[in-house]
Amino acid sequence: MNIHEYQAKEVLRGFGVTTGKGIPAFTVDEAVKAAQTLGGPVWVVKSQIHAGGRGKGGGVKVVKSVDEVKAEATRMLGMTLVTHQTGPEGKVVQRLYIEEGTAIARELYLSILVDRETSRVAFIASTEGGMDIEKVAHDTPEKIITVQVDPAAGYAPYVGRRIASALKLKGDQVKQCVKMIGQLYKAFVDKDMSLLEINPLVVTKDGNLICLDAKINFDSNALDRHPEIKELRDLTEEDPKEIEASKYDLSYVALDGSIGCMVNGAGLAMATMDIIKLYGAEPANFLDVGGGASKEKVAAAFKIITADPKVKGILVNIFGGIMKCDVIAEGVIAAVKEVGLKVPLVVRLEGTNVDLGKKIIRESGLNVIPADDLDDAASKIVKAVKEAA
Ligand code: GDP
Ligand code: MN
Repeated sequence: MNIHEYQAKEVLRGFGVTTGKGIPAFTVDEAVKAAQTLGGPVWVVKSQIHAGGRGKGGGVKVVKSVDEVKAEATRMLGMTLVTHQTGPEGKVVQRLYIEEGTAIARELYLSILVDRETSRVAFIASTEGGMDIEKVAHDTPEKIITVQVDPAAGYAPYVGRRIASALKLKGDQVKQCVKMIGQLYKAFVDKDMSLLEINPLVVTKDGNLICLDAKINFDSNALDRHPEIKELRDLTEEDPKEIEASKYDLSYVALDGSIGCMVNGAGLAMATMDIIKLYGAEPANFLDVGGGASKEKVAAAFKIITADPKVKGILVNIFGGIMKCDVIAEGVIAAVKEVGLKVPLVVRLEGTNVDLGKKIIRESGLNVIPADDLDDAASKIVKAVKEAA
């Protein structure tokens, strides 16, 4: 789960991390009041969307009067902000963060993540902060350093000192860095984050270290342990199809292709997506209905797929182990009765109660293209979609 920058900074402040002072604003009036409360003389008006690259897209402005805060707030609220992370459709700005301006001497990069290769928490740091870290990684990989934390030993100050040295910090900044790294590490572990990115971490003109931007991803599987974090969820930032799917506890991820997939088991779902690509088309989603899903859950899943205007064909691929083929068949038929079926549908069923499942579909009068195996199913749906186009 993602949260906004202003929320992320609030979470970090709870661990003692230094950030600028700021106030969120949902309206122009609130933005003006926030600016007056902060006092200036320099403010930063920041669009709050769940994507980075806002600065380049015109979503972050440094201003020098309350009138300018008002003008920028008026411009930003309601605008569609397009950045390299939002995709071409962009995101509508509904919240702002008004922050006191910081005089910047240097912009650095710092993030914490779980390194899957080593199964350790790792810090990534670079002197080249502020801009695209992806570009730095590509053009000058030697400017990015990684420091792993040994899980048995836990965090130790030398990690902070190594990072301070890599960031070329001097004197008191080293002390501030070691302290901040410890605080960030504790925040990361205590709150079950999967990514914490500070870009930029800045050295101010007075020589202090502060977090100027903050992006946090939380491990969704751990959210039940953090009700206070769950409350920070902003549903308007999420795909409505994914929100609907989460109500039914379905593992669903919306994608950009044209073939809707309903599959049981994450591995089979991945294989199904791969084979669709192999036959020259793109999946419209990842969907694992899980084992032991009810007819209602299957119907809900099918409806989410058909409601997606990008979907030009549907592939149901079920290997019934715990999941029963007849339940899948009944769920699909219930959904089609309610919302109709305007695109080709290929169904491949195998496993528990497969004969009953096939019989139910046959007798429903549904216009289904049956398939024998995964290969057959993928080639048939890709062909059917091409012919219908
Ligand atoms: P992002 O573009 O979405 O990552 O948004 P950031 O919060 O990182 O802001 C983008 C850039 O705006 C930063 O890299 C800074 O160069 C600049 N910026 C943000 N806040 C301030 C500030 O208080 N003072 C100054 N001078 N620049 C700022
Ligand atoms: Mn940033």
